[in-house]
Amino acid sequence: MALIVQKYGGTSVGSVERIQNVARRVAKWKNAGHDVVVVVSAMSGETNRLIDLARSIQPIPDRRELDVVASTGEQVTIGLLSMALMSLGVPAKSYNGSQVRLLTDSAHTKARILEIDSKNIQTDLRSGKVVVVAGFQGVDADGNITTLGRGGSDTSGVAIAAALGADECQIFTDVDGVYTTDPRLVPEARRLSTITFEEMLEMASLGSKVLQIRSVEFAGKYRVKLRVLSSLTDPDIALNEEENSGTLITFEEDKMMETALVSGIAFNRDEAKVTVLGVPDTPGVAFKILKPISDANIEVDVIVQNVSTDGKTDFSFTVHRNDFERTLESLKIVAKDIGARDVTGDDKICKVGLVGVGMRSHVGVASKMFEALSKEGVNIQMISTSEIKITAVIDEKYMELAVRALHQEFDLATSN
Ligand code: ADP
Ligand code: ASP
Ligand code: MG
Repeated sequence: MALIVQKYGGTSVGSVERIQNVARRVAKWKNAGHDVVVVVSAMSGETNRLIDLARSIQPIPDRRELDVVASTGEQVTIGLLSMALMSLGVPAKSYNGSQVRLLTDSAHTKARILEIDSKNIQTDLRSGKVVVVAGFQGVDADGNITTLGRGGSDTSGVAIAAALGADECQIFTDVDGVYTTDPRLVPEARRLSTITFEEMLEMASLGSKVLQIRSVEFAGKYRVKLRVLSSLTDPDIALNEEENSGTLITFEEDKMMETALVSGIAFNRDEAKVTVLGVPDTPGVAFKILKPISDANIEVDVIVQNVSTDGKTDFSFTVHRNDFERTLESLKIVAKDIGARDVTGDDKICKVGLVGVGMRSHVGVASKMFEALSKEGVNIQMISTSEIKITAVIDEKYMELAVRALHQEFDLATSN
């Protein structure tokens, strides 16, 4: 008997029929003798609808109230799924974030989990119930409802698995695992049966939305066994077939991977670039530029600073597109302060990146990547690298072309 946490995303619970299928799948695991905690998202499209509603009243919604509105989608799903389980004769009980007491900080719309009280869940599991928890939401120390950022139910699932010491966290979604790149963009993309935790972290950080990055961080920190698999198969599929399906996130590099130069390609369109022009090249300016940005809880990614000519340099970095306007405003104040010439920005850019532990032991991956992009006439605006990742910032209109060209160039459709 094992303790399993299963997370089902929006498409997987997108209709009454799909919720009933989830209930059948959960019942199958429960009836096989396992303890099951289910974490669910809002029905597909629901969170977008709720956020649009908020924006129709307040174009830049108050963040606390936005969380009150956006978190309601998940509450509908937990009730419906619990009822669907009961209809199958499986005792079930739903919990929203504050009922669990999934404690977060107070950073509304992108709160971080601080602590999870697992007492109530454990009592219910002992009494034979399936526990159904609302993903994406928590509560801060003052009792305010918080949400964990878009895609945050993945993080709820993994964090609850970690708090309960679960044997496995299964992320059920609308694809049957992690692919070499988004199969919706590149139909030849290949499913990976395993991917290392490090690679998954880089893929997620580049914007591959199959797992929210914080869920991967949690899995790494608490060594949660994590698997991504399909919710769209027949719910009555044999348990032993299902438990080995999908993609397992591993902690060990397997030997085969030494030969695979690149494991995957990720991309993200929700990016924007800002540049402070003519910055005096003196100690402390990078700090002065970035401090107010991090104080405003804005995440900064690729950072580039040029060599200075005449003691002046240009300083560029990328932020999420939603944070573009706020970043520009904040930089205009800083620019005056530090005596920079001007601030410019571009919110029509995207990030495309190669990920692979094989890069550690190979040279020439970057030049092969840049050659493939140049053959397609794609101009690279910024570059950043880590040991196992190379990211290029390019004009968003070339994103699909670039991803397809790189997938082909590195021969990812064929297993190597
Ligand atoms: P859920 O609602 O289940 O959380 P998401 O839409 O958040 O599902 O994530 C699943 C989607 O992630 C897939 O439908 C796919 O389009 C996208 N995706 C992006 N990159 C990858 C990848 N490398 N492998 C698999 N899916 C990917
Ligand atoms: N419902 C939330 C969203 O759409 C959380 C999630 O699906 O993971 O972002
Ligand atoms: Mg998701």
